[in-house]
Amino acid sequence: MMYFNQHFDKTKLRLFITWLLNRLGGWQTIHALERFKKLGFGYATRAGVSLGVDDLSAPPLKMGFVDATSKFVQSSFSGQSIGSEKAQRVIDSWSGASEVLKDAVVDHFLHTDPLNPIYMMAFSGARGSLTQVRQLVGMRGLMVDPMGNILTLPVQHSFREGLTVTEYMLSCYGARKGLVDTALRTAKSGYLTRRLVDVAQDVLVRRIDCGTQNGILLSDLKTPEGVLLRPLNKRLLGRVLLPSNQIIDAQLAESLSSKKEVLVRSPLTCRPNLGTGSPDVCQLCYGWNLARGKTVQVGEAVGILAAQSIGEPGTQLTMRTFHTGGAVAGQKSSRLRASKAGRLCFLKKVPGALVRTSVGELGFIVYQTSYFSIFTSTNNRIERLDYKVPAGTCLLVRHGQWIRRFQDLAFWPLSKDNTNPVLNQYKSGTGLNAQWIYSSKSKETVKPIWLLSGSSSTRLNQNSFLGDKIINGEIHTQCTLFEGSDLQKIEKLELKVPLGNYIFERTGLRKQKISLNTGRVTSWQRNWLGLRKAQRTLVNTHNLKNSSKATFNLKNEGNWLPRGTFLGFFVYTTPISGDIVQGLPRIDALFEARSSTGLADHMISTFNGLVEKGLNSREATKAAFTAIQERLICRIQEAYLDQGVQIDDKHLEVIVRQMTSKVLINYSGDSPCIPGDLIPLEEAEAFCAALKALGLEELTYEPTLIGITKSALQKQGFLSPASFQDTIRVLLRCSLEAQQDPVRGLKEHVILGQSLPSGTGHRASQLFN
Ligand SMILES: [Zn+2]
Repeated sequence: MMYFNQHFDKTKLRLFITWLLNRLGGWQTIHALERFKKLGFGYATRAGVSLGVDDLSAPPLKMGFVDATSKFVQSSFSGQSIGSEKAQRVIDSWSGASEVLKDAVVDHFLHTDPLNPIYMMAFSGARGSLTQVRQLVGMRGLMVDPMGNILTLPVQHSFREGLTVTEYMLSCYGARKGLVDTALRTAKSGYLTRRLVDVAQDVLVRRIDCGTQNGILLSDLKTPEGVLLRPLNKRLLGRVLLPSNQIIDAQLAESLSSKKEVLVRSPLTCRPNLGTGSPDVCQLCYGWNLARGKTVQVGEAVGILAAQSIGEPGTQLTMRTFHTGGAVAGQKSSRLRASKAGRLCFLKKVPGALVRTSVGELGFIVYQTSYFSIFTSTNNRIERLDYKVPAGTCLLVRHGQWIRRFQDLAFWPLSKDNTNPVLNQYKSGTGLNAQWIYSSKSKETVKPIWLLSGSSSTRLNQNSFLGDKIINGEIHTQCTLFEGSDLQKIEKLELKVPLGNYIFERTGLRKQKISLNTGRVTSWQRNWLGLRKAQRTLVNTHNLKNSSKATFNLKNEGNWLPRGTFLGFFVYTTPISGDIVQGLPRIDALFEARSSTGLADHMISTFNGLVEKGLNSREATKAAFTAIQERLICRIQEAYLDQGVQIDDKHLEVIVRQMTSKVLINYSGDSPCIPGDLIPLEEAEAFCAALKALGLEELTYEPTLIGITKSALQKQGFLSPASFQDTIRVLLRCSLEAQQDPVRGLKEHVILGQSLPSGTGHRASQLFN
């Protein structure tokens, strides 16, 4: 007898049921589930879990913490950030705060009241999520406006405490957006499902083996920028391996995942039944029916399965804004904070480039995994803390800098848009001397522009880099910073900063001491430092990361400028909290192969390139199709995975195959086709072969990418297209062409009232045929 002594939440239970199903089969599992249900209902009745207002207890540190964050946000504006960067900084601080608070809420429940009904409900996974608990007892946090922009004023109270009038008004935007989206977007995603169903409803499994030896090469699914979307072992599960025709189960998928590429059969390469024009898939090309974890049965309507698998998440996700009430959930770059105060040292050269970060600070993007250490001294003993950061990390600290406890050292993006896509272009000549980590030799980098204050005018100087050799000297004894008007006194100074060099604000000069002003050192004596206040502006020549890009007119260098002179402007992007409402139009554009996606153009240029290389049009068409199929699947997966939706590639392949199966006739030759006709590739090939054999002039064609609507309307026959949309046009065209309907799909059978050619009706339909 098996015995599991552990806590079963929804995820565990799901795993357990899968385990049962794999081990004992369907019948036994049903019995087990029946007993689960009895057990669950029984104990749920006895427990009598209910909800009272006293159960909503906030963690004690909350108000102090919120106040501290709000003070920090108010104090941390520096003169150099532009509007959007200030906003970004505020958003970062608050979303960080509400994350911390969320953890505090969980901690509080766990330690004071582990049987709290709210806590139990959220953690069982049955109802509600942590985001909702956070809103109930923590703080509601940042809200979005109807355009998806994040409002910089957060709702600091929770539902338990009650919202102030201002907070209530702030919440309104998101709440209303939730309502409107649910009402309007469900219709849009429903229409997407309908189109998908219409384009794929006649795709059925009708044969066991089409006998093809063609397949697709699967590897880790990555974006063109190299971000992993789906690992190979997940993509392999339930496929059929070529050339052995062996089905890949979880175990085999795992062992194959070490390979770079694996050739498998796919609905994309299934050989169609010539003459019938039907888009069937054979059992082996399809592989597993993912609902059962077994080879798909002959007669399964895999087209409908694909359409529903792709359409359903859209409907689901439209309601997400509604459930969260417009509160911004998570989505933060992860930050590395110093665990102890001390001095930071880079031990090796770090290649990278300077950037202006999204909050207007100077950052340094590292091109490879880098290491640094913080040296702290406690009780006269030097302690060393080592840090390792991956490539693409943005460092916020320099060599030799004093670090405060919890100071941000670096951040690295979690989402794919932030991974540095320009890695390779910047590799040359950027080896940095670790001693002066900011003395980058790379040309494409951030340049600071210093606006030095004068009595009535400002001097512009862009020759020096920010913080250049600022840590040239050592600070041995205490130094104090005073803020003056133009001059800043630092008493007991033993800092050896050369005259004319710059010091910038928030630089850790020594333990617990940061400079308050940015400025240029004008004089220094034993006891004080003269600082001429300066305003620093960083200019990115290239738009690395999501930072702002600036165009500056630098002709004025070294000139005296009157106040208010136009220097240049910033181009920046503001972060938008992405939800499916933003995602749906993107998915729609891809499935409809709209010109905005650039996919069709890309395919034609690939095709032309291959023809120029000397391939015949048949091979070039096939290669162009393969390339575009891969790209299309990748783009669609990207859009869905953005929302955390996992869809198996197989479903997408079934749909994409419908979009990439036809060619456009350029020249008809001696064939019965007309230029502009769209016919299946196989048909065009057959025509060519026949014409060649007869010694007649061959036709020429090129690949086309057809959107799902057009593809559904282009189908052979009139029953299915006419009942889809544009009925009059379809009927007119079909009657002019004297089209016959082969009555192969599900829709046609429904319309004619025949038994469906799928499932158990499959055999009947074969007999009938
Ligand atoms: Zn096949």
